[in-house]
Amino acid sequence: MCGIVGYVGEKEAQGFLLSGLKRLEYRGYDSAGIVTLANDGKATLIRAKGKINNLEEKMAQNRHKDNIGIGHTRWATHGEPSETNAHPHKAGSIYVVHNGIIENYKELKKNLSQHEFVSDTDSEVLAALIESFYKDGKYPLINAVVQALKLVQGTYGVAVVSEKAPEEIIVARSGSPLVIGIGHDETLIASDASALVGHTKRAVYLNDGEVARLTKNSIEIKTLNAEPISAKVEEIETNLAAIQKGGYDHFLLKEIMEQPKSLTETLRGRINSKNHTVHLGGPGLSETELRKINHLIIVGCGTAYHAGLLAGYYIEQFTPEITIETVIASEYRYRNAYIPKDSVALIVSQSGETADTLACLREIKKQGIKTIGIVNAIGSTIAREVDGGTYVHVGPEISVASTKAFTSQAVAMVMFGLTIAQAKGVKSATLRPYIDEIARMPEEIGNTLEVVRPEIEKIAKKYAEYDHAIYLGRDTAYPTAMEGALKLKEISYVDANAYAFGELKHGPLALVDDRFFEMTLLPKGVLYDKVISNLQEVLARGGHVIAVTNVEDFDMPVESIVKITTDIEIFAPILMNLASQLFAYYMTVAKGYNVDQPRNLAKSVTVE
Ligand code: GLU
Repeated sequence: MCGIVGYVGEKEAQGFLLSGLKRLEYRGYDSAGIVTLANDGKATLIRAKGKINNLEEKMAQNRHKDNIGIGHTRWATHGEPSETNAHPHKAGSIYVVHNGIIENYKELKKNLSQHEFVSDTDSEVLAALIESFYKDGKYPLINAVVQALKLVQGTYGVAVVSEKAPEEIIVARSGSPLVIGIGHDETLIASDASALVGHTKRAVYLNDGEVARLTKNSIEIKTLNAEPISAKVEEIETNLAAIQKGGYDHFLLKEIMEQPKSLTETLRGRINSKNHTVHLGGPGLSETELRKINHLIIVGCGTAYHAGLLAGYYIEQFTPEITIETVIASEYRYRNAYIPKDSVALIVSQSGETADTLACLREIKKQGIKTIGIVNAIGSTIAREVDGGTYVHVGPEISVASTKAFTSQAVAMVMFGLTIAQAKGVKSATLRPYIDEIARMPEEIGNTLEVVRPEIEKIAKKYAEYDHAIYLGRDTAYPTAMEGALKLKEISYVDANAYAFGELKHGPLALVDDRFFEMTLLPKGVLYDKVISNLQEVLARGGHVIAVTNVEDFDMPVESIVKITTDIEIFAPILMNLASQLFAYYMTVAKGYNVDQPRNLAKSVTVE
C-alpha cells in the first residue's frame, strides 16, 4: 500500500516523481504529494487530495528544475484523505514520505512538543522525531533518521530529505518495500520496481532493518546498528509492455484476458507432458522430505486465501495421508495454533509484501516448519524470507482486483501437491488426469475467455441494477464461488457473499428474493445431482439464477446461462472463475465505477 518515489541526479526530479507516482498509483490513491529541493535547498512542496491527476494539475502550475525530490501516493491509515494529511510531511527543514504505520505515534508525540503538528497522521510524528535528532542540520541526516527509527514501533518504508542537505536522500525500511534504482549520475527510489522500468535495469532491494544514504552517484547502506551492508545489484526483469494497458480499456480486462499467457509462464519447464510428471525446482525439498509431509498449512489473504482453499480441495483428492489447513493470515498470526512436525507451510502472496502473510511466515519459521512461497513479485520480501518457493511468474498485476494471480497461484499449489504425491509413490494413473488437464489449461482458458466474454457482457448489463448477490458452489466450486463473490464486491460494490450450496438451507436461503440474484457454479462431477437439488430449492423460491456450467444438456429453468464448452473436467471450476471475473468486470463498467482502483482499497497490503 502507498507508493513512494524519489530522485537525485542531473535531470528534473519532477518528471520521474510524477511518472513514478502514476505507475504506483494502484498502491494508494486517496491523495499524493511531492517535494523537490533546489541547489540552495529551497523546497517546493506540492500536495493534492484525490488522484495523481489532481497533483499533476498543480505541478503544471509549479514547474521546477530541481534535481532532487521525493513523492508519495497515499492510502490513508491515520487521518482522512486531505491535502494536509497528504505526504510529504514537514518538520523544520525535513520532509518525510512514509508507507506503513507508526504504532507508538501517540507516545512519541508526547515528547515532541517543540513541533507544531498540523496533520492527523502518524507519519508527521516520524518527521518531527527525525527533526528532533537532526537539530536543524547539526548532525548528519542519516544519523538522525537512524536514531528516530530506533524508537519507532510499527512498519515503515521511508524516504527523507532536508533543505540543509539538498544532495542526499535517506531511505529505510521495515516491513514496507523499497527499491533503489541505479542510473547514470542518478539514483532513483520506488516502492516497486515497475516505477523504475524505462529508467534503469539495475536495482538494489533494501532489506528490513536497513537504512541507506543516496546521492546521485553513491549508495551507502547500513543496518540500524551501523553495520555496513554491501549493495547487491539485481536486474529488473519487467518490461514496459507488461505495465501498460496494451489496447484494453482497463488493466483488469487486460489481466483477465492474458491468463492463457500468464498461466503458460507458471507452467513453463514444470510439466513434463510426455512422462506426465511435475517438476518444481524452487521448493528445494528432497524426495525424503516430500514423502514425509503429512500436513500442509496454506496461508494467504483475500484472493490468495481463496486460491489456497481451492488448491487444498484438489490436493487432498490425490495425496494420501495428508491433512490440509488453509488459513487467513490476519487471523492465524495471532492464534496459538499448533503445527505438527512434518508440516510444510505454503505462503501465498501476489506482491510478496502482504503484511499479515509476512508476519505468519516469520511465526511459522520460528516453529521450525519449512516454508514455501507461492509468490509473484520477484525479489519481494516473502520470496526472500521463505525456505524455498515457486514463483507464479504472471508478470505485474496492476489492477487492484487480483485475477491472473489467482489462477496461477491455485495451479502452482496443485503442482506442489502433485510433487508431494509423486514422492509418496501415488500411481501415475491417479495423477495423470490432473497433470494432463493442467498442461492443456492455458489453451482452454483462451478458448473459454473468447467464447464467454460477449455473452457475459450482455448478462452483466442485465443484472447491473442489482446490489445483492449470492454465489453458490460445492466442492472445488465452493472456493471458486468465494473468489467470484469477492471480485464482484471489491469492484462493483455489490453486496456479494458466497455459500457452500449445501449450507443454503441452514440460513442463507432466507435471503432469496427479488433484491438478490444467485450466481451458481455447476460443474459436472459426482456431486452434480446434489447440486441440482440445491438449485431446485432456489428456483422454487423464485431465485434469479445465473447458471455457469459445463454440462452440455443443462436444461434447468434458470434466468441466464453461461455455457463453458471444454473437455477440461477436473479443473472446470477454474474456467468457471473466468466467467466470474468477466462478470465482475462488466458489472463494474455497467455501474460506471472505477474498475482498476476501487474505493477504499489498494494493491499490495503492506499494513496490518
Ligand atoms: N500511516 C500513514 C498515513 O496514514 C501512511 C499511509 C500509507 O502507507 O499510505 O498517512
